[in-house]
Amino acid sequence: MSVREGSLEAPTRHPLDWKNPEFYDSEKLFAEMERVFDICHGCRRCVSLCGSFPTLFDLVDESATMEVDGVAKESYWKVVDQCYLCDVCYMTKCPYVPPHPWNLDFPHLMLRAKAVKFATGHVPMKDKVLASTDALGKLASIPVVTQVTNALNKAPVTRGIMESVLGVDRNAWVPSYAGATFRGNARQSAPHPVKDGPRTPGKVAVFATCYINYNEPGIGHDLLKLLDHNAIPYVVVEKEACCGMPKLELGDLEAVAANKDKNIPVLAKLAREGWAIVTPIPSCTLMFKQELPLMFPGDADVQAVKAAMFDPFEYLVTRQKEGLLKTDFKRPLGQVSYHIPCHSRVQNVGQKTREALELVPDTKVNTVERCSGHSGTWGCKKDFHAMAMKIGKPVFRQMADPAPDFISSDCQLGGRHIEQGMGETKGKAELKHPLTLLRMAYGLPD
Ligand code: SF4
Ligand code: SF4
Repeated sequence: MSVREGSLEAPTRHPLDWKNPEFYDSEKLFAEMERVFDICHGCRRCVSLCGSFPTLFDLVDESATMEVDGVAKESYWKVVDQCYLCDVCYMTKCPYVPPHPWNLDFPHLMLRAKAVKFATGHVPMKDKVLASTDALGKLASIPVVTQVTNALNKAPVTRGIMESVLGVDRNAWVPSYAGATFRGNARQSAPHPVKDGPRTPGKVAVFATCYINYNEPGIGHDLLKLLDHNAIPYVVVEKEACCGMPKLELGDLEAVAANKDKNIPVLAKLAREGWAIVTPIPSCTLMFKQELPLMFPGDADVQAVKAAMFDPFEYLVTRQKEGLLKTDFKRPLGQVSYHIPCHSRVQNVGQKTREALELVPDTKVNTVERCSGHSGTWGCKKDFHAMAMKIGKPVFRQMADPAPDFISSDCQLGGRHIEQGMGETKGKAELKHPLTLLRMAYGLPD
């Protein structure tokens, strides 16, 4: 049988078979890695995407046979450790994804390897601590602790200690904690009447996310102001835990399931009551749109949440196309360098943030669609920070040209990483989240 390269059909993502005992069978895992690595070695399209592929190809080229069979199995972990599960190789490059008979899903294979590593106790405690964003946020948002944590995060001596104890690179940007959480201070919605559009529910439930709740609540407040300005009633989701993405990146699938059990009943109820659900961090949106549905394909509540979940700009631009979004902008934004994070790209909703910013008169958007290298906690870690800066270099360069008034990314953590990487080439540009830029364009107060 001849095997066609690529396919005209849309890619099919198979569910993650993580309940099958074979999923955790190391021998079967290594056999599958050898099969897939051999296909990748013959293809090499993804060489520039991240550190995983160059690591693999170097291992092959430096082996005695110069083929995958010459690479020691223990070295496979070097490839796995460089993958931060951005999904870009699957979604944008690989011609062998299902329904192609080679059935190649590189990110899910890396996720399986991370799950095996986690289950066999090979993940250090420091990585588990860093992935506990919710617990860290709760602790750091206790008033006195907030100031102390922020001060310690900036002091060179404690950064050295953080590096040796927690593995956080002393040069990497780390988030500060806000004095007041978003959820504790979100304004109640005005009683606007609900106006459903053909594709958008006319009322929005906001899933705050750990980062917006504990670190940059202003972005969440800006989202609420945008909804209020457009007469869209909203609620902040009454009870939430971390979406589970940091645990997924660690391979801790049981912890992902535990967080899913806390979030999904609350969100499914909202979905069934006709609310659109919006989260202001792309990785969290993707968790509900893609990762949980693939882990729990038979769970009707998970599927209901998936159907109700919107990226904020997907929601706003669809409202605009339905004639339900105001365009009474009061100020131009000038030159905006806008970065699309990988976890926005793989949602397959197009460049909705760019479309929204381009609605603002006298605004030029320079769109940069390439991995910044940050990816959650991965880019802050001592072992990977230098690689994260290297991966981000083309992004840092493209963001600086032409000289922007603002730099922006849907992922604020990625935005901070880009700001750091741009250094002096940032010039006078300010980093603002796209939701903040839109709030400013409407002339709404801070
Ligand atoms: S998912 Fe992203 S980080 Fe992982 S191998 Fe693919 S492109 Fe690289
Ligand atoms: S993931 Fe697909 S496109 Fe990328 S190197 Fe492997 S076979 Fe080629």
